[in-house]
Amino acid sequence: MKGLRTARWILAGLFFVMSAVYLAFGRQLLRFASLSEKSQIIPSAITVSIGAVLFWLVISFVYGRLYCSTVCPVGTLIDLSSKLRRLMPARRRRYRYRNRHKVRFHIATVYFVCLIAGISVVPALIEPWNVFRNIIGTANPASSAAAAVNLGIGAATGIVAGAVSLLLIVFAAVFTGREFCNTVCPVGTVLGLMGSNSVYRVEIDPDKCTGCLECEEACPAGCVKVVGRFVDDARCVRCMECVARCPENAIRYQPGRNRVATPMMRGVKPHGR
Ligand code: SF4
Ligand code: SF4
Ligand code: SF4
Repeated sequence: MKGLRTARWILAGLFFVMSAVYLAFGRQLLRFASLSEKSQIIPSAITVSIGAVLFWLVISFVYGRLYCSTVCPVGTLIDLSSKLRRLMPARRRRYRYRNRHKVRFHIATVYFVCLIAGISVVPALIEPWNVFRNIIGTANPASSAAAAVNLGIGAATGIVAGAVSLLLIVFAAVFTGREFCNTVCPVGTVLGLMGSNSVYRVEIDPDKCTGCLECEEACPAGCVKVVGRFVDDARCVRCMECVARCPENAIRYQPGRNRVATPMMRGVKPHGR
């Protein structure tokens, strides 16, 4: 199962570099880099390229939030930043299961209302492609100026927003992993709804699991609860860290759910049926 994590990192790295190059230099440097923008959900929705939106909704329904582990550059930036946790004492660098926050639905509602109403400030600050554009813009103010003016927020505001976004995302990633993805990002909220009952899912095999907690401690989304052998699919970003870490191959990315381990806890078929 380590191969899944490797494949995921290769794809994420490719899209991350393409996105950064495209946003910093446009299409001059790498013509195919524009593919990174065409693959993003919200820019595709805004340019009425409904194909990409439908594609990702269907993919999320079947495979879960693969978008969040491969295509989104902010997700990759968060995962890269969270590597800084290695500098913390061993006890503090482990993740723990976190409860869901309903506030993500309120944030997503405000975001979509602003998007429809043409109020650009909220989408400029929390929509991942805009966040990444702002961040890249701090490194290349010329591209930032153009993007910020297009968004109607002014070049200086765009550059400041980029610097603040970068600091906040790195800080949040180090201390909370993918909390931005599961609380603030409206795209993550929508994909989470699609992926909450996806066909392929991360599942713990209760017959093999020894309860060592390695998977829970490796999960940046805080969505694995070893007690109860539970994985919250709506928040799982399919990063494959848990499946690569498990020494028993007991947590797997697979189609369908596992059955309950203890026979006495399985549903008993009544006699005569
Ligand atoms: S939740 Fe949002 S920011 Fe996080 S990876 Fe998914 S799209 Fe990107
Ligand atoms: S890492 Fe594997 S064995 Fe350990 S708790 Fe998780 S699923 Fe169980
Ligand atoms: S459950 Fe596993 S695949 Fe899902 S986010 Fe957590 S570590 Fe990544």
